[in-house]
Amino acid sequence: MSQIVDDWVQQLKGRITPVGEMSHWERLAGAFQLQRTDLVPAAPQLDAWQIAYAGHTHDEVQRDVDKTTEACIKTWAELRSDAIWMYVDIAHHIESFVSPEKRAQHFVRQDSADYLQYKPVVQTIDQAIELLESRAYLRHLEGTRPVTHYTPHLVQLLEFQEKMGRVVPVIVGAPTPTRIAEALADAHQLVKWTLVEPASKVHRYLQLCLDERLQALDFYRAIPAKNGCEFFCCFSGANAWGPSQFAEFGQYDQQFVEKARTIFPYILWHHCGRNLWLALEQLGEWEGIRAVQYDLPYYSDDQQWSAWCERVARLYAGKRCAANSPTPFVACHGSRAEVESMVCRFIEATLPYTTACVMPGCEVDPRTPVDNVRAMIDIARSYHPR
Ligand SMILES: [Zn+2]
Repeated sequence: MSQIVDDWVQQLKGRITPVGEMSHWERLAGAFQLQRTDLVPAAPQLDAWQIAYAGHTHDEVQRDVDKTTEACIKTWAELRSDAIWMYVDIAHHIESFVSPEKRAQHFVRQDSADYLQYKPVVQTIDQAIELLESRAYLRHLEGTRPVTHYTPHLVQLLEFQEKMGRVVPVIVGAPTPTRIAEALADAHQLVKWTLVEPASKVHRYLQLCLDERLQALDFYRAIPAKNGCEFFCCFSGANAWGPSQFAEFGQYDQQFVEKARTIFPYILWHHCGRNLWLALEQLGEWEGIRAVQYDLPYYSDDQQWSAWCERVARLYAGKRCAANSPTPFVACHGSRAEVESMVCRFIEATLPYTTACVMPGCEVDPRTPVDNVRAMIDIARSYHPR
């Protein structure tokens, strides 16, 4: 039980003005189940943005569970998006590979508003394999998987979700095997290895990452799912991969989602950057995925925004909810009118084929103006798919 959650529940429960006819939970779940909803859901990935919005720095939240949770609830109470994204950064998932005394040496911070980034933990593929074979991650778990405040924070948000009567879902996010493989080594390093190292070594590395991630899913079953979490975001890597890498090494992420779908009914797949068409096709086939947070067209096939959104919506007709818009860049640097236009073009290109969820292709930059975040939510509220 947490005081901060109880204070917010007391302040909000039964006192918030309804948005539309459905609850936030019903709206997002409906879109994920490909059903018509009263409004187009808007659930921008605000994880780090919320911290800045609430006036905290990442140094502060790193040590303070209550501040992290408070930032997320405050943001939701004031913006009323259709989901609460827990605050998560890749550091949470890499920390267990590094001893507590050495973690600070691996931190990278652009500025105080930014995520806590991690320098690669390994330089060579042999080191990477050795690190995982030695099960380094089990030595520094400190009782719970993802260390530091990740677990208590998500438990607090789920307590809020339940005590509010599931009016709004909390999205818990975790990296997939390819994302962990990139985080330990660096994304470009991994691509390089797929080209210059023996394929058997790359398979060994990715298999070890998969083993670690499958074990991690036991934590997600025991803690988030047991505390009511139903919406789970898979943060995938592989966004710098080409067709040959997907053909050779794509199966590890698929095996991850195979297990995740036995735990969570609503799986959102986050695949940001330049999206290879082949990857989007796979995500339409892998069972268990309900919605795909996609991003930009691949370098070789630049298209107009509407045409790109329509192409993805046609691909996902009868299969997936399409989540996008505006791009994180336009969200951060565009005018209110540009944000609105991009969201409208996405919704109008998508709704003839499948359900839409307004959600930039990657997390909202912490420097994004509040007015632009409000704009993307407000404009979604003007569409009535029914
Ligand atoms: Zn992303």
